Amino acid sequence: MSRPSPGGALVAEADVLVIGGGPAGAWAAVAAAEAGAEVVLADKGYCGTSGSAASGGNNLWYLPPDPARREAAIAARETLAGHLTDRRWMARVLDETYRQVNRLADWGYPFPEDEDGVERRGSLQGPEYMRRMRRRAHRSGVRILDHHPALELLVTPEGAAGGAAGIRRQLGCAPWEVRAGAVVLATGGCAFLSGAFGLNVDTGDGHLMAAELGAELSGMEFSNAYALSPAYGSHTKGLMMQFATYYDEDGRALEVGGMARRPIARLLADGRPVHARLDQAPPELRAAMRQAQPNYFLPLDKAGIDPFTQAYPVRMVLEGTVRGTGGLRVTGEGCATTVPGLFAAGDVATRELITGAVSGGGSHNGAWAISSGTWAGAAAAAHAARGRPTSAAPAGGAGLRPSGPPGAPDAAEVVAAVQQEVLPLERNYFRTAEGLRRSLDTLDGLWRHVATHLSGEGRDALRARQAAAMVAHARWMYRAALARAESRGMHQREDLPAPDPRLTHRIRAGGLDEVWTAPEEAAA
Ligand SMILES: Cc1cc2nc3c(=O)[nH]c(=O)nc-3n(C[C@H](O)[C@H](O)[C@H](O)COP(=O)(O)OP(=O)(O)OC[C@H]3O[C@@H](n4cnc5c(N)ncnc54)[C@H](O)[C@@H]3O)c2cc1C
Repeated sequence: MSRPSPGGALVAEADVLVIGGGPAGAWAAVAAAEAGAEVVLADKGYCGTSGSAASGGNNLWYLPPDPARREAAIAARETLAGHLTDRRWMARVLDETYRQVNRLADWGYPFPEDEDGVERRGSLQGPEYMRRMRRRAHRSGVRILDHHPALELLVTPEGAAGGAAGIRRQLGCAPWEVRAGAVVLATGGCAFLSGAFGLNVDTGDGHLMAAELGAELSGMEFSNAYALSPAYGSHTKGLMMQFATYYDEDGRALEVGGMARRPIARLLADGRPVHARLDQAPPELRAAMRQAQPNYFLPLDKAGIDPFTQAYPVRMVLEGTVRGTGGLRVTGEGCATTVPGLFAAGDVATRELITGAVSGGGSHNGAWAISSGTWAGAAAAAHAARGRPTSAAPAGGAGLRPSGPPGAPDAAEVVAAVQQEVLPLERNYFRTAEGLRRSLDTLDGLWRHVATHLSGEGRDALRARQAAAMVAHARWMYRAALARAESRGMHQREDLPAPDPRLTHRIRAGGLDEVWTAPEEAAA
């Protein structure tokens, strides 16, 4: 149901509002609609091309229901993940992913076949995948609002999520408001506008909106995922790099074991160049590599470099909580957050349950997006069956409703200031208590400014909100990183290089003006 309003504004109602139209949001919308709910999905960009998955290949944690293989897959991850995973959730994700990916085949996804004619279902091409998800959402009756970024949640008098409001980017930034019986947040992780391919929309907006209603986060210390890209490109897909040899400025090959990037990070942090050459790629694979990831080769081709025979400079790009692990804490089977009526799916939610302290990129996050999306959508529909809210008020604060008069620095300057604290390898990759505290001093000051003075109209409102979300995100990350006084998984402390068995638990975080952390015991 929707009412026309003056000046292009949209006011609508739904049972379930899904915010974010990447894979997690699309699966959530389909599941909620299949459960009988009237569903609206609002995306900041265009549902189908926006977000981290839409632009490239997506490997999945997809395993047939063979108990021995599944047990081996779960066990293999546990140690690597710093013993923060949960076996029950891992098994659930494997079951649900298998079930849903097989439905994708029924919906006509063209899985390639191996030499025996068996379909390979462990990997999806982003554009094909998301085209099908969009079509499926339409066919299920989901109303999709493209280019409708949400700026804030609505809150009921009882403190539950009751919808959201935002702007219509292609309609003069007129306002929209959807009141709903339940909300699924699927806004992706936060990559701090680091320039990584496809991640310009992943600015942590959902985390901020949820925290404004009191939602808790978890695993925010596992947020420093960096990926390698050509120095003059932004493509961070890892597929190519498995065939790379790395060289220092004198042309000496670097000892880089597996995916360990530490020696590369050290040189780059010291301002010394590192080059890569894809010389380990078998000649017969090279054409297929170009075909699989053409965007990787584009800037190299333009520069006249043949990456298979010539070395090219690389850089490390922060992907934050997109390929990291932390996010909103989920409290039950349906991915409910700690706020009634608010559910979280995909990268906006913590993925520690299945990936623990290591990156979920490369198969687990994609499986999580499918599973958590499906569960969150169904649970939101069940919650919404209790009824739609009769009243709900906007809950947005920092960047939207400052407590004082507008004043400098503006949103772009705030973003630059946050980036100075989170992008440099020296601060975020090579962490120390002293460095984290210094950054937190700056970030706390920035938060006070944002909460008191930052706002904007139209597109500037979105920019201000994104800036506020990034400051909040950075503070949760670094407070949790201080609380984790050890090294575990991707969180490596230069001053505390060993794991501490007493810290074999997850760390919850929350708060805006006052950020807090507290331990949570991991399930055995
Ligand atoms: C380079 C790269 C490669 C990866 N490869 C893999 C892989 O092979 N396997 C794997 O498991 N994982 C991989 N990942 C991890 C990947 O992020 C997840 O697998 C998954 O795609 C996340 O889906 P999502 O829907 O949660 O987030 P996204 O796909 O990022 O979607 C988020 C959506 O939310 C929207 N949004 C954001 N803010 C708002 C707002 N305020 N209002 C409305 N909408 C909003 C965005 O426009 C976007 O559409 C990769 C990540 C990267 C960066």
